[in-house]
Amino acid sequence: MATIRFKALEALMSRQVFSVDTPSKKTSEYFGENVFDQKKMRVYLSREAYDTVIDAIENGTRIPRRVADQVSSGMKAWSIDKGVTHYTHWFHPLTGTTAEKHDAFFEPAGNDGVIESFDGARLVQQEPDASSFPSGGLRNTFEARGYTAWDPSSPAFIFDKTLCIPTIFVAYTGEALDYKTPLLKTLSVLNDAAVDVCQYFDKNVSKVQVMLGWEQEYFLVDTALYIARPDLMLTGRTLMGHASAKDQQLEDHYFGTIPSRVSAFMRDFEIEAYKLGIPIKTRHNEVAPNQFECAPVFEEANLAVDHNMLLMDLMKKVSRRHNFKVLFHEKPFKGVNGSGKHNNWSLATNTGVNLLSPGKNPKSNMQFLVFIINTIKAVQEHADLLRASIVSAGNEHRLGAAEAPPSIISVFIGSYLTKLLNELETRVTDEKMTPDEKTEIKLDIGRIPELLLDNTDRNRTSPFAFTGNRFEFRAVGSNENCASPMTFLSLAVAEQLKQFKVEVDTKIEDGIKKDEAIFQVIKNYIKASKNILFDGNGYGEEWAKEAEIRGLTNVKSTVKALESLVSVKSKDLCVKHGIFSEREMEARHDIRVSHYTKKIQIESRVMGDLATNHIIPTVYKYQNQLIENVRGLKQVLDSKDFEQIAGIQLQTIKEISGRIALIKIKVKNMVEARKKANAVEDIHEKARLYAEEVKPYQSEIRYHIDHLEMVVDNEIWPLPKYRELLFAR
Ligand code: ADP
Ligand code: MG
Repeated sequence: MATIRFKALEALMSRQVFSVDTPSKKTSEYFGENVFDQKKMRVYLSREAYDTVIDAIENGTRIPRRVADQVSSGMKAWSIDKGVTHYTHWFHPLTGTTAEKHDAFFEPAGNDGVIESFDGARLVQQEPDASSFPSGGLRNTFEARGYTAWDPSSPAFIFDKTLCIPTIFVAYTGEALDYKTPLLKTLSVLNDAAVDVCQYFDKNVSKVQVMLGWEQEYFLVDTALYIARPDLMLTGRTLMGHASAKDQQLEDHYFGTIPSRVSAFMRDFEIEAYKLGIPIKTRHNEVAPNQFECAPVFEEANLAVDHNMLLMDLMKKVSRRHNFKVLFHEKPFKGVNGSGKHNNWSLATNTGVNLLSPGKNPKSNMQFLVFIINTIKAVQEHADLLRASIVSAGNEHRLGAAEAPPSIISVFIGSYLTKLLNELETRVTDEKMTPDEKTEIKLDIGRIPELLLDNTDRNRTSPFAFTGNRFEFRAVGSNENCASPMTFLSLAVAEQLKQFKVEVDTKIEDGIKKDEAIFQVIKNYIKASKNILFDGNGYGEEWAKEAEIRGLTNVKSTVKALESLVSVKSKDLCVKHGIFSEREMEARHDIRVSHYTKKIQIESRVMGDLATNHIIPTVYKYQNQLIENVRGLKQVLDSKDFEQIAGIQLQTIKEISGRIALIKIKVKNMVEARKKANAVEDIHEKARLYAEEVKPYQSEIRYHIDHLEMVVDNEIWPLPKYRELLFAR
């Protein structure tokens, strides 16, 4: 009987490239057709309602109930015109995925049968029975009410014939239960702080927005192979599998020709994405075989976060049509590249200026430097919190694994800026500067080239890199909601900008001219934040050593890194700006820690099951074959020949028996370790035990299984092998 693995391979061989119905229209003609955007609002809303919504989007003003009624009926009319039957509030609970609960538009209407109905009250607020979402104890099940509230700054859209309304999700006591609430609050804090600083340079700036361009990496695996791998199905990654003889060592996959089955899938989800207004621009093969990337044009951060979550859902959905499974796990395969989600972050003003882009004159360049230096300082101040924002059970396998940014947070700014900052530091004096000195400094600053894209040494090993007109936060994992890193990064920068303004204003009050005050504060910041700047190889051992000397933290353990979510420093930061209460932060910490524990628990169970039900029985079969063979040899050979020939076979039998015994013992010990951890009440201690006592068994057990894979008859090996998972398509 063929194993499930061979059935899967057979299925794969009969796959055909799914033909995609490419719209005959140009992309621009159908882009956003499933979004209730400004164009549709103009058609479906009254002038008053339209203006009110635009004002709410642009300035965060409240939408009165009367107007909400108009908007809801406009949305309803538009979506019913498009064949929509249901609506839902769409939100980002702390599960890490998106949530929706659909309601039909129709309402019984007495003698008239049913009518389609959707009023302002239902648009603005819903009360999903949300008792099963993680709340970290913020919401007891007996007071399970949480509510979702409309976020007009992200437009409603149609997904699967359902009108989806982006919302935030909070407990009835007001505590945030989602990713979006703190993000929206932070964006507003940063706006205020950045506008204030911009006022030193340009009085016309009244709004500063965070821009985010994410790069989504993922793997594709054929559905049949995926189903034959219970570890992939249940944990998102392979818990075992010997390296393929060939994987990425020839460096032939990155930017290679996209296989036609894959490009059909890409084309298909891109078309759907365009209809949803997601501006996917770039697609290419990534470093590992069967690994790919897509990236949109950057957008305002809140919208970009929604678009990323929506695209991940969309990719999962569309992949079914192509018999693919999309893997968003940070490290689905050992030994080849993992997947990240670079978060390209910048600040844009209402006057059309990118504050992280050098300008055309000394004044705008000065502004550019102020924002660059404050960002560096913010990252230095809150490096631990930034790390905490991106660690997870999945990302743990990726960070620091000589392919992804290390768990040391540092900043790369390239040789040009490094030199410039060094010069500034030495030139600016704390005493009153002569007009000549000032002119010289301004001349230096005026010379910053408009295009700083330092392509020659774009450092791929840095977790946080300046890439010419934006910072790239590269440590973010492929499966993460960008809202978390975007919140903490933006908040750290907001706090830093506020501090900057206080320091500059104090100097101005002391009679120092504005320019000079700015120079002096900047100089101090350059000095103070030097230790976080690093342009070298972040993967090297030397860097770990040097970072230690510099006093930078290097936290490899997820559980340990998460502690920074509730450090005094982090709490001060978040509470001060009204982003979280202490209780909310503790709740979030608890949720992340428990999530980690559960992930390791599931992995460890799957490991035990696979070892016991898949691997060991298969190995016994093979062992029996060998034993049978030895018996046969004994019959046909004389004793001298037998000893020589069967000796090698007996060695194999012994090796196999030894490994089986070790696997069995280790699985048993792993179960014991789990029991011990499970008995612990305190969730933090439990997580520590899972990380330190349970998790290590995974690689120990795997080690023997992977060796057995190399010995046992290929015909009976039950799990699709790495070469099949990585190359078959
Ligand atoms: P690379 O892989 O070379 O870093 P990609 O083209 O894959 O570049 O992705 C770059 C991402 O950065 C895109 O999403 C792009 O829109 C985004 N980006 C470019 N400029 C900015 C900016 N000023 N602010 C934020 N994101 C930006
Ligand atoms: Mg890229």
